[in-house]
Amino acid sequence: MKTVGHWIQGKPVVGGSGRVGPVYNPARGVPAAEVVFASPAEVEDAVKSAVGAAEGWRMSSLSQRSGMLFRLRELIDAHREDLAAIITAEHGKVRSDALGEVARGLECVEFACGIPHLLKGAHSSEVSRGVDVHTLLQPVGVVAGITPFNFPVMVPLWMMANAIACGNAFILKPSEKDPSASLLLAELVQRAGIPDGVLNVVQGDVEAVTTLLTHPDVDAISFVGSTPVARHIYETGTAAGKRVQALGGAKNHMVVLPDADVDAAADAAISAGYGSAGERCMAISVVVAVGAVADPLVEAIAARIPKVVVGPGDDEASMMGPLITAQHRDRVRSYVEAAAGEGARVVVDGTSGRSEGFFLGCSLVDDVRPGMRVYDDEIFGPVLSVARVDTYDEAVALINANPYGNGVALFTRDGGAARRFERDVEVGMIGINVPIPVPVAWHSFGGWKASLFGDAPIYGPEGIRFYTRPKVVTSRWADATPSQLDLGFPTTR
Ligand code: NAD
Repeated sequence: MKTVGHWIQGKPVVGGSGRVGPVYNPARGVPAAEVVFASPAEVEDAVKSAVGAAEGWRMSSLSQRSGMLFRLRELIDAHREDLAAIITAEHGKVRSDALGEVARGLECVEFACGIPHLLKGAHSSEVSRGVDVHTLLQPVGVVAGITPFNFPVMVPLWMMANAIACGNAFILKPSEKDPSASLLLAELVQRAGIPDGVLNVVQGDVEAVTTLLTHPDVDAISFVGSTPVARHIYETGTAAGKRVQALGGAKNHMVVLPDADVDAAADAAISAGYGSAGERCMAISVVVAVGAVADPLVEAIAARIPKVVVGPGDDEASMMGPLITAQHRDRVRSYVEAAAGEGARVVVDGTSGRSEGFFLGCSLVDDVRPGMRVYDDEIFGPVLSVARVDTYDEAVALINANPYGNGVALFTRDGGAARRFERDVEVGMIGINVPIPVPVAWHSFGGWKASLFGDAPIYGPEGIRFYTRPKVVTSRWADATPSQLDLGFPTTR
């Protein structure tokens, strides 16, 4: 069976901890590979390599760095299909979705190609007689990135494109559930001319993460994953004196106002609820139907569900692939099974799967309310709930009472309501007639409340801020001014 190892100092490393985990082909339900879990000593090797590489890399010129990033852009573009095939094999998502993931990751590399412009800093001339002030944006040093299973290419690129472009060395700890894409990315980084050690990959579980989190030579941590782990990473990393951004889970609502186009809203609910089998942090999991739109909307969604073709991701006919593991499939199924007992109404029960693979069909659960598990928990599967409310205000109150605040969508034809909604909801990313509002790479991605710990959203301008440390230099050069003593506090007047 294939073994997935690490990538340290520009070379594949088999790993000798003796601890391994299974990597499944979720469409077949069988292990396809084994991933080795890094020992603390192997993580130490990766950190040493990164520290060594960071020293030279931070001194590289901006034009050198952007040249390499342009080459990386070309290489990833040329290997889109290879990366997508690895994603489909280990994650299960369908090929078109995997290609979409690669495209969104590539956008982040394209943004980072503009690093000479992004690191320009600011300059103020003559703030006082003969005195100038400018800012320097310097790299943080060694950054570790810990990533989730659901985007094994895009989320690492959210982090590493900017981290490397800013002059840092980056250590990636990918999800142990679909680890192989990280090694192809590392190879492409090397082929782009980026020096060995600037990107290292350590595979592993909690042990590798703990070593990175507490290592004195790791300066910053980027984390994307579930909320309990994000909270732990944020608290432990900041207590160890590190800069930490930690993005967590979600429960995203899609409000449909009575004036909305019901067909457009139903299409959007299907694609945002069941795309990638609901395993997206920006998936819609609750449709909030306001007033009289509820009955026709539920009917329109239910009518579309039989059209969703469920099957292996490498079958061109498939629209939705399997869940990541048998355990996760069973957990998702348990929410639908419990829903009726909680007082909800199961309109479509998609839980009777195939015998082979970790598949479920699409489920639709109506009359869902806070206090029910199906509403309260992040399910992360193909289960769409409908909550019925009477008014816009009730819809906003429901969203704002939710502990998560990642994404939200509003479907309406009323511009005034949309404008008010943008201001009223306590959520980081908002879609107006757009169901999955993942920001483009030159904006930044981040939720509110339990969806983001710390104050640093990821990628885009916030990514550049997170991966750099500012210095402000105030300088005066001797001129013909005669000697003069002044013990007062410096002022600009
Ligand atoms: P997860 O939290 O289980 O794992 C994420 C990473 O943390 C993995 O690399 C894993 O090995 C590591 N990890 C797991 N448990 C750990 C522990 N106790 N201590 C230290 N490290 C640990 O998440 P997942 O199941 O891989 O991904 C799905 C979750 O990620 C969902 O909750 C989803 O909403 C969230 N997610 C959020 C975003 C976002 O941008 N906010 C994006 C994608 C996924």
